[in-house]
Amino acid sequence: MNKENQKYDENATPVYYTLAMQRSYRVMIVYFLVFMICMLIFRMSKTCLMVLPWLIVTCLADYHIKRIQIRWNLLFFCVICIGWISYFIYLFGWDCGGINFIMPLVIISVFSLYDSLFNKIAFIVFLFLLRMGLFLYWQTHQSVYNPTETQMMILQTVNTSLSFIVMAMICITFSANLQKAEKHLMLYNMELRQQAGTDPLTTLYNRRRMEEIVKNHIAANPSEIFSVAMGDIDLFKSVNDTYGHNCGDQVLKDLSALFKEKTLGLGHVCRWGGEEFFFFFPNMNLDAASALMNEINLAVSKCPIVYQNETHYVTMTFGVEEYDYHSDLTQLVKQADDKLYYGKTHGRNTVIF
Ligand code: GH3
Ligand code: MG
Ligand code: MG
Repeated sequence: MNKENQKYDENATPVYYTLAMQRSYRVMIVYFLVFMICMLIFRMSKTCLMVLPWLIVTCLADYHIKRIQIRWNLLFFCVICIGWISYFIYLFGWDCGGINFIMPLVIISVFSLYDSLFNKIAFIVFLFLLRMGLFLYWQTHQSVYNPTETQMMILQTVNTSLSFIVMAMICITFSANLQKAEKHLMLYNMELRQQAGTDPLTTLYNRRRMEEIVKNHIAANPSEIFSVAMGDIDLFKSVNDTYGHNCGDQVLKDLSALFKEKTLGLGHVCRWGGEEFFFFFPNMNLDAASALMNEINLAVSKCPIVYQNETHYVTMTFGVEEYDYHSDLTQLVKQADDKLYYGKTHGRNTVIF
């Protein structure tokens, strides 16, 4: 187990596990109080007194819950429940619903993150055998009391409702935690995806994300026209060499902001790599895309890039290509690149389409 996981297990998990157990203890306390009242109503004051130790032990377990290791808490909870079930069947027999308290134990053991699957299954098998054992015991032994039908009805109602409340408490606590963890994971995943598809310097999409966007678009709209453009900053190396790499970075950032603004609602732009930018215009033919790229090219040449109180201007060269319904993205990029190269060798600061 690596350090991260260890931290998770030691700190995060017990928070909700302890909460589930604490809520269960509180319901058990209410249960014992209600049970004692029932005993008084049934005029069984001696039995009422005998429930008192169970109430005290449960109160103590609840009081010390945060000071004791989670495994011990789980053990105490199991001992209290199993002990009470056995004692109850010994006193009142099978038909009064005391056995219901075995179900919260099944649930809490399944949700226990600390145990291996083997241990969980072993514990469930143990509970099953215990239940069968108690049933067989009751078949062959007389219970201490022989409750009347009314008493049986009351005890059955109290036992069933309180054991269901314990189960609901445990399930709600665990499911709320799982939902929280799942939401957390989803948000984290989204953030990772966002990061994986973004260029950190310019905050534009990166090449991988753009390839995904174009491929998905072609798959979803195979008969729709679209255009792409590849752009490259002219003589960018000399910007770096003359004014420094940081100034070059400023150029990349300012131009990226300009591209975002100019393509908003019309298409997507990404940093293809280095000082190259790729544009994707869904549902746009070559004429419209070329006109837009000319507009962008003009805006680039007029865009003042301020770095350390000095203003710089750069130009770019673009190659525009229209989808021909059979080329794949690599071929389209190659065609746009060829046009870009043509522009580079014919004076730069131009849009070739
Ligand atoms: P051309 O007009 O033919 O494109 O000339 P160029 O100087 O732009 O082309 P070249 O390929 O020779 O230079 C590209 C330069 O881009 C070189 C590289 O240092 C620079 N560059 C690439 N990525 C970055 C970056 O992230 N930041 C900065 N500042 N420079 C970068
Ligand atoms: Mg280049
Ligand atoms: Mg260049």
